[in-house]
Amino acid sequence: MIYADYNATAPLRPEARDAMMTALEIGANPSSVHGPGRAARKVLEAARKQVATAIRGLPQDIVFTSGGTEAAALAIQGVVRKLEQDCTLLVSAIEHEAVSKNAGHSGAAVETVYVQPSGAIDLDQLSDRLKVWDADRSGTPVLVLMLANNETGVIQPVQAAAAMVREAGGLTICDAVQGLGKLPLNVSLLGADYLMLSAHKAGGPQGAGALWMRSGAPLLPTVFGGGQERSLRSGTENLSGIAGFGAAAEAASRDLEKMESLASYRDAMETRLEREAGVTVFGKDVPRLPNTSNFAYDGFRAETQVMAMDLAGVAVSSGSACSSGKVRRSVVLSAMGAPDTLAECAIRTSYGWRSRLEDFEQTADAWLDILQRRNLKETA
Ligand code: PLP
Repeated sequence: MIYADYNATAPLRPEARDAMMTALEIGANPSSVHGPGRAARKVLEAARKQVATAIRGLPQDIVFTSGGTEAAALAIQGVVRKLEQDCTLLVSAIEHEAVSKNAGHSGAAVETVYVQPSGAIDLDQLSDRLKVWDADRSGTPVLVLMLANNETGVIQPVQAAAAMVREAGGLTICDAVQGLGKLPLNVSLLGADYLMLSAHKAGGPQGAGALWMRSGAPLLPTVFGGGQERSLRSGTENLSGIAGFGAAAEAASRDLEKMESLASYRDAMETRLEREAGVTVFGKDVPRLPNTSNFAYDGFRAETQVMAMDLAGVAVSSGSACSSGKVRRSVVLSAMGAPDTLAECAIRTSYGWRSRLEDFEQTADAWLDILQRRNLKETA
């Protein structure tokens, strides 16, 4: 089987597995004062340092959560609560549901930041909106913008957008779930006030994640209890998951060069699919994650392609698969102005730390073969 669905979940890295096994053996609570408890605490703090290092941040600014979704909930709902809803969330049209739904449920006013057909947000629209910002009416502007899109891989101009928002007296919440391990990350350069991370997209386990926050940034907890994680996220820490997260973050940062080299394999695959089948590749004209390719063939529905690819031994996903496994039209491609009929025919391939050139070549072989058989059937 060729696995080309890293943006859904990356296979567990061996370093993460080892770290998890070691942590599981400890079998103690990091809040306990006895020896085993202190050993657990040491593992927790070592992982915090590894995750912080991967984003060039400080360990004390990391809050561990159960994943990207919970990090988004903490950031968005925590900021809105701290600002007593005297704010407006400026949410990009292509955010993951983990983010957009938390914005929608936060109780704050929400405005949309549109994207251009390229897949990147419209910085002019954002700038125009901020120029006429009326703080008495709209409160603090809070930009909610992802670093890289999970479907197209398009990298968003977070640094420029966050600078504009800061200038206007606002805050920026950035979902970097798809960025970790695929792009060099530096929170100081990025300029966001909050950054969401998830372990399983970088070769760590599912069910672990983190929120980085700029020291002093406003935030209230959304989960209450024993006061773990500086009282920002109560609940006994998922020690093995967090240990795996730390190890994966470290390994992924070390492997960044390899990740970058995937772009040339990806580009060669796309060139072939364009030449031999005339596919539409989304997000091609702007900076993109090196591992992601989202393409469509008009009239060939995504779910049919995904099933046929699975039968051919290649695991890919459609534009946006929801948790029930049903395929829905991609909000992201629609926001980019793709016609509905084309958006329904888009599949996403995404690669990662274990992928080789052959994986890309065999993905193209399998897909072209499937298309040919389908076309023969259509004309028969
Ligand atoms: N944000 C983005 C961009 C994602 O791709 C995902 C997962 O698909 C999430 C957030 C949610 O992360 P998690 O699965 O860790 O809750």
